[in-house]
Amino acid sequence: MSELSISPYFPFRRINIVKQVVDETTSKAFINVVPDKRFHPVCHLCGHKVSAVHSWAQRSIRDLNLASTQIWLRCSYRKLFCSHCQHISIEELELFHPYLRVTRRLATYIHHLCKVMTVAEVARHLQLDWKTVKEIDKQYLEAQYGQPDYDGLRILAVDEISLRKGHKYLTIVLDYETGRVIHVGKDRKAKTLNRFFNQLSAKQKKSIEAVVMDMWDPYIKAVKKNCHRRP
Ligand SMILES: [Zn+2]
Repeated sequence: MSELSISPYFPFRRINIVKQVVDETTSKAFINVVPDKRFHPVCHLCGHKVSAVHSWAQRSIRDLNLASTQIWLRCSYRKLFCSHCQHISIEELELFHPYLRVTRRLATYIHHLCKVMTVAEVARHLQLDWKTVKEIDKQYLEAQYGQPDYDGLRILAVDEISLRKGHKYLTIVLDYETGRVIHVGKDRKAKTLNRFFNQLSAKQKKSIEAVVMDMWDPYIKAVKKNCHRRP
């Protein structure tokens, strides 16, 4: 990987990135993260601060792809003795739901995709087990999905989805920091993306610092036309 810092793409305040390994042959990246010691551990069940640590544990969590690279976070976390709710609980890192093996922003993205595609299509596109997708779609709290808010977007990702090989495409624009879907366009042409950018004010366009996407020419054209910072 290049010298570029990846940390802006992982704006999780309660963790620190300690190591990253990219496996070029499988297009997978493994990022080791640990709790940021500046924060007192918090019980995920009741939200109270806890000082008694029961043990340390580690798990691998899928995150949003970074263009075509699959991202895995190897997250170390603490199990706590919570005196408030009288449980041994997992600390709240604002990163993953304790029962789901994906980050919150990936869960948000999956949940939003399930509104425009079938569970099987979402599973195939993200290379996840369909049971996982189904579980996330079922469990995930129904988020407000009304008027999209385009203010303060910093990092966008463009995901190209082929619904049936060689036939139908969707162009999805998501807020990379949260996994929130902000635009669903049919097809994958420059004008598909231009239609999205046309809804943004000059100020909203200016706040966009980066766009994560595959090197698909029409997309690059649309991003260059609309975003004056480096794509
Ligand atoms: Zn508790």
